[in-house]
Amino acid sequence: MQQNLDTVVIVGGGTAGWMTAAALAKVTHGRVTIKLVESEEIATVGVGESTIPMIRHFNQLLGIDENEFMRATQATFKLGIEFRDWGAIGDRYLHAFGQIGHRSTTLAFHHYWLRMHQAGLAPDLWAHSINAAAARAHRFMRADTSLGHSPLAEIVHAFHIDASLYARYLRRHAEKLGVQRTEGRVLDAQLQENGHVRSVRLASGAQIEGELFIDCSGFRGLLIGQTLKTGYEHWNHWLPCDRAVVVPSASGPDLLPFTRATARPAGWQWRIGLQHRTGNGHVYSSQAMGDDEAAALLMRNLDGEALAEPRVLRFESGRRRKVWNRNVVAIGLASGFMEPLESTSIHLVQSAIARLIQFFPDQGFNPADIAEFNRQSDFETERIRDFLILHYHATTRSDSAFWNHCRNMDLPDTLRDKLDLWRASGRIARHGDELFSEVGWLQVLHGQGIRPAAHHPLADALPQSEINDYLDDTRAVIQRCVAQMPSHADFIQAHCAA
Ligand code: FAD
Repeated sequence: MQQNLDTVVIVGGGTAGWMTAAALAKVTHGRVTIKLVESEEIATVGVGESTIPMIRHFNQLLGIDENEFMRATQATFKLGIEFRDWGAIGDRYLHAFGQIGHRSTTLAFHHYWLRMHQAGLAPDLWAHSINAAAARAHRFMRADTSLGHSPLAEIVHAFHIDASLYARYLRRHAEKLGVQRTEGRVLDAQLQENGHVRSVRLASGAQIEGELFIDCSGFRGLLIGQTLKTGYEHWNHWLPCDRAVVVPSASGPDLLPFTRATARPAGWQWRIGLQHRTGNGHVYSSQAMGDDEAAALLMRNLDGEALAEPRVLRFESGRRRKVWNRNVVAIGLASGFMEPLESTSIHLVQSAIARLIQFFPDQGFNPADIAEFNRQSDFETERIRDFLILHYHATTRSDSAFWNHCRNMDLPDTLRDKLDLWRASGRIARHGDELFSEVGWLQVLHGQGIRPAAHHPLADALPQSEINDYLDDTRAVIQRCVAQMPSHADFIQAHCAA
């Protein structure tokens, strides 16, 4: 007879730990005891500040009011990411969320646009995106779905948040839902005869027993790595950055509704404006640049006064060989890491939680479920990895050994195939439910200067004048919509100022 689980133990109370605790408490309706152990002696990473739109679904699952959440996390809105100096020094483009143009019944918008572009007639791709046009104008409003086909109904947003405040906020939710928190440092874990974890032992001598253990202990990977010795697959030959130096600075005069990612000689720098401060970080390769030089470069490129000393974080790009091993599931930094170039870490926490809910085990821990969970996790991370590699590889920069390496590096076959397809015909292949959309790939491919040799033959089926009128019309409507939107700062002031 099937025996359901009684107790889940979560080790770690960073963003991953508290997101997992809150979600599991919500979906188990008190039928499973959820325990979380965290140590105030061991700091969280606490710099996960830029998110993607799916976080809104997570908050909705928990019944969180968006304005209250924004006040609690000092959040601002995010319409996309501005990339500067990536394809070449001086280049600038946006990876905006949401659609560009409309999909016709036959072809994706970009095929028509590409035809005009190749004829030297199509203007700026991003003028056909409400998110991009609003971001450029520093304006914001939430999508108004009552407006039917208007671009104002299609605005897609995410947030810039203070990740430490988010974890604290979720803790309140999780504890209200019955999660039991223990303060204490985990020393080690005890195993059952079958190699499953039986309990964790704290410095106080207390032991916490459970049936399913979620390792949210951050880069340490206390259970998945130290206890179960699950191997790690390194991706630094494709993603050579392995450090970040971070520093908060005073808010600038304008609240930007987008993340800025500026390429530097040995990596890139982020700028994320929150309500109370600006988050800054310089991600770099330690082979190409020393910590002092990386910190000095960051400090020279702040647009407000630094509010602390710069702090260096080390990481290894890659993932656990199995994110679910025996009765331990790793979520968050314990499961692997890819740099925050496309703000995917918190999303990966969220999707791991969704997958865990889908494959929630009973005491039998069916190997087929575990294998499928791991297969889906692998697929998801590999496709995100490819997207990140594209940003480094698609460049004409030759100003440093770092960029020369990235331009010439070998690529994973999956990315090579995508690039070949785009270069040949302007088609974008998206497989299964990989995270980034065709429109996401389009913006990075075009934004970083990779031009296809041809366009879709069926885009020639319409007269050029008809496509031209359609593009003109789309741009004009978007411009009128943006003119009606309030500034990002005014919108926050009116609805969700902390
Ligand atoms: P942590 O924050 O490290 O938390 C680990 C927890 O485990 C802590 O509570 C700690 O006390 C506890 N713990 C550890 N050891 C023990 C022990 N022995 N006993 C008891 N408790 C223990 N993500 C994004 O989505 N967007 C971004 O813009 C972004 N930027 C990032 C920039 C950098 C440089 C880095 C490194 C990460 C970034 N991330 C970003 C990732 C994001 O910060 C993390 O994915 C997210 O915060 C989850 O972290 P975590 O909870 O797994 O780990």
